Formats: sequence, C-alpha cells, structure tokens
Amino acid sequence: MKITRRDFIKNSLILGGSMLLGRSSLFAAGREKEQWHPAYGRLEQEGELAQRVGQAYSIFEECRLCPRECGVNRLGGELGFCRSTAKVVVASANAHYGEEVSLVGDRGSGTIFFSNCNLQCVFCQNWPIAHKGLGDQVQDTRVADMMLHLQEIGCHNINLVTPTHVMPNILNATRIAYRKGLRVPLVYNTSGYERVEILKILDGIVDIYLPDMKYMDAEKAAKYSSGASDYPEVTGDAIVEMHRQVGVHKLDDRGIAMRGLMIRHLVMPNRVAGTRKFVRWVAENLPKSTYVNIMHQYHVAYRAFDYPEICRSITEKEYLEAMEWAEECGLTNLDPRSLLLREFYTRRGGAEMPGAP
Ligand code: SF4
Repeated sequence: MKITRRDFIKNSLILGGSMLLGRSSLFAAGREKEQWHPAYGRLEQEGELAQRVGQAYSIFEECRLCPRECGVNRLGGELGFCRSTAKVVVASANAHYGEEVSLVGDRGSGTIFFSNCNLQCVFCQNWPIAHKGLGDQVQDTRVADMMLHLQEIGCHNINLVTPTHVMPNILNATRIAYRKGLRVPLVYNTSGYERVEILKILDGIVDIYLPDMKYMDAEKAAKYSSGASDYPEVTGDAIVEMHRQVGVHKLDDRGIAMRGLMIRHLVMPNRVAGTRKFVRWVAENLPKSTYVNIMHQYHVAYRAFDYPEICRSITEKEYLEAMEWAEECGLTNLDPRSLLLREFYTRRGGAEMPGAP
C-alpha cells in the first residue's frame, strides 16, 4: 500500500477539503446505495426494542453488564467497580470533529460522553470524566433529547463514548428518541472490555461498533487497567461478536460510515500495546478488509507519570514500525489519516518525537 507523491498530495487535499467544503466523496469502495434505515428502527417496528430495554434494565439488579461482574444491585443504589448507580451521568453532548473522517463528515459526530468507566486505565486520556465522574446525572429522557438535538444540528451519528456500564439507559433513550424521530446510526464507542452475552442484547440495535484493542498481553492489561488481566481474551471475543453483528465498515455515497466495525489501537511507548500481535490477531480472526485505526496520539496523562515505561510520547519510529507490521499482515483498510501520517514520517526519516528519551 505504498503512496506515491501524487497520491499523498491528492489525499491531503481531500482530507483537508472534507472539513472545509463538506460532502466530498472520500471513498470509492464499500459504498451503500440502497435506502438506509437505522438498525434500532427495524427492531422497534418488530416490537422487539421494548423487550430488549426491559432485559437490559433487569441486569442492573445484579450487575453483570461487563466482565467485572460485580453482582451489585444498582437499581437499589449499590455501587460496583464503575461507581455508577442505575442513573446515567453525562459529561457532555456535542458535535465532535476529532473522530475518524467517516464518522465526522462535514457536520460532526454527535458525541455523548458518559461519566465513569468499567476499565479505569492509569493512562486515561479522559480521566476527569472516566475516573472522577465529572458530569450531570440525568434521566434517560434527557439523553433521548440530547440524541435528537445532535441529529437536528446535522450530526451524522450518535457517538456513545464509554457506554458499557450505562447500556440499559442508552437503549431506553434510543427507543424514546426513535419514537420522536431519531434516524441516524448509533456508534458504540467502547474500550472493548465487553461481555459477548451482553453484546447480544445490542444485536440489531447498534449500527457501528468502535472498540479499542488496547493490549494483547494479560500482565500489561492487569498492570495498566486496574487488574483486568482477561482484557486481551475478553476483548478479542467481543470484537469477533461485533463483527458478526455488523460486518465490515460500510459507507454511504457521501463517504459517511453507516454500519460496520471500526477498531482503534493506540500505539504505546516501548511496545506496551503489543501492536505486532494485535495486527496479526486481526488478520487471523477477521477479514483483512476490517477497518483498523493505528493511533499515534498517546500522551502522558493521569497516573502514567508513575510508570517510567509509558511516561513519554511514542517516537516516529515506533509509529512507523506499527504501520509496517499492519501492512505486512495484509490489512487493507487502514485509517486514511494514519496512512498519511506514515507517509509524512517516512519522508521526515522517522525521527524521535519531542519528549522521547
Ligand atoms: S458495569 Fe459496573 S457495576 Fe456492572 S459489572 Fe461492570 S463494573 Fe461492575
């Protein structure tokens, strides 16, 4: 997947232009021409969505929504590892332009940030929200209003950030919003630390899964994500289930994502994230056309200062080797901005980044 100088300039103009000009056709492959309906709409019409909401809410009584399986009664106010009751806390709801290009389009991704988290990583980039729980407690009806507002201002999707521990509230809000006119795709923007059994409740509701795959090594997962040594195995199974439900990344004729799986992998310093193993795992367990975003933007945050091996940004060399491994494995649908960044670093000669030792 070598990029010629001409391709590099053309792609740069297209990506830059997508923010300024809007409605550009970014991708030739994978477009869907047929009339599109949100997955949750079909389920509501079949009378199934209300039943799923009830099923999800009943899990709050003995919470096993995520692999922590705390077993606490959140409806009764008990708190588990994620420190959340059955009431949802929202930190913000805005059009967001920092996500993948196919989610952002020209009107933004309608992002709702849920407070608290079931994974609790020491390097969390959103720690005031995920660890400290900053935000306002709201009713599910208010979340439905936020979804409708985001659709009204033109957002291409509803991007649910850290949804795992509040999945029942999200389903309830989606049903309320659908009955009031919500028609854009739901993006399930998760750490990946999910139970397959719980994901099956979302089958036919979520259009786009956007999971992280943070590490491939149990010891590292335990060390940096609060004892979650089962993260690599559990998340692998979860991602396979997500793919079973929604398939590969699909775009409409504007280049906007409408359905499918989009995996994020953040490259960490000193190969902590196990990138080589990750890309091999994708190649062996999913179609090679699976959308993969190899992300470069790791920065030292929260308690990462206490861990010398992750207390710096990554180097350009570390990013280039990650991209090379992805291509060696034959992955054919790497995030377009990651390809441009690789090209840029290659032309600069793979230097050290500021802050690297
Ligand atoms: S969602 Fe929260 S309370 Fe429920 S199992 Fe996970 S960490 Fe525990």
